[in-house]
Amino acid sequence: MEEINLPTPIEPIVFRGHNFYLKRDDLISHDFSGNKARKLHYYLVNDFPHIKKLVSYGSNQSNAMYSMSVLAKLRGWKFTYYTDHLSEYLKINPHGNYAKALENGMKISCHSEFISESKNKEILKQVQYDDGTLFINEGGRDKEADFGLEIMAKEIIDWQVASSIQRLNIFLPSGTGTTALFLQKYLKEHGIKVYTTPCVGDAAYLVQQFSLLEEDTSLYPTIVNPPKKWHFGKLYKEHYKIWLELQKSTEITFDLLYDPIGWQVLMANLEKLDGAILYVHQGGLLGNESMLPRYERRFKDGNEDN
Ligand SMILES: *Cc1c(COP(=O)(O)O)cnc(C)c1O
Repeated sequence: MEEINLPTPIEPIVFRGHNFYLKRDDLISHDFSGNKARKLHYYLVNDFPHIKKLVSYGSNQSNAMYSMSVLAKLRGWKFTYYTDHLSEYLKINPHGNYAKALENGMKISCHSEFISESKNKEILKQVQYDDGTLFINEGGRDKEADFGLEIMAKEIIDWQVASSIQRLNIFLPSGTGTTALFLQKYLKEHGIKVYTTPCVGDAAYLVQQFSLLEEDTSLYPTIVNPPKKWHFGKLYKEHYKIWLELQKSTEITFDLLYDPIGWQVLMANLEKLDGAILYVHQGGLLGNESMLPRYERRFKDGNEDN
């Protein structure tokens, strides 16, 4: 079975003259990295003798889709992934997470009507009630994510104790909010506060996502709002700029979808966080393969939008 390297290291970094610690979950493994490895950890190490097939759904370039394709391959399961659209361009020129997931044997099932909630449920109900099928929600928003994130929380506590850090704050950008939620749940009793920012919807959407996993609102992470409305997956010059700046000053490659938002929001709210700050690198670098060429075409020196 695939090596997963735990605990992941925590390194000090300096950005714009400020000190941070960085949890390097991008180093978990080559194929199975970031928070998707944490969220799927449960399915990697437990036995599922009757399962023959994994089913999930979501966007056609998602990190979760790719990680599930790795999981299915490692476990010898079939993998069917439902999505609402697939461009002609992507069909003819598979790249990024989509290409790698196909290489791992993913079967893609495209339903243009899939975006509608009721239709969604209808399709998924059929697969969910089949005994040999394991169903995982979009983005790995799943109760079982609890397993891997409790392990991660323990790693953070052990490190905090070993390095005698008194006051600790965690910051990480959210999609479904699963990672931030479970971290806060396990770190609260240790006095560690988890801050996050919504990258996919707004704060209300994120709270709603939390509520699907946890009823006790006292365990929710603290949400910090982005300074303006960004549409998920769209290209913004300020995102590209901070990503390049991070790479230059830390020599670490961050993800291009979530981290530019995470770092912009964090830098704008430093005064709210009292104590040391640990930023979680949640992996997702394979997704850069499709994002970076888009950014370069649009904003590289000399291009008109620059
Ligand atoms: C999936 C992902 C996120 C969002 O994680 P959630 O648990 O859905 O909030 C953030 N960063 C990266 C790199 C991801 O792949």
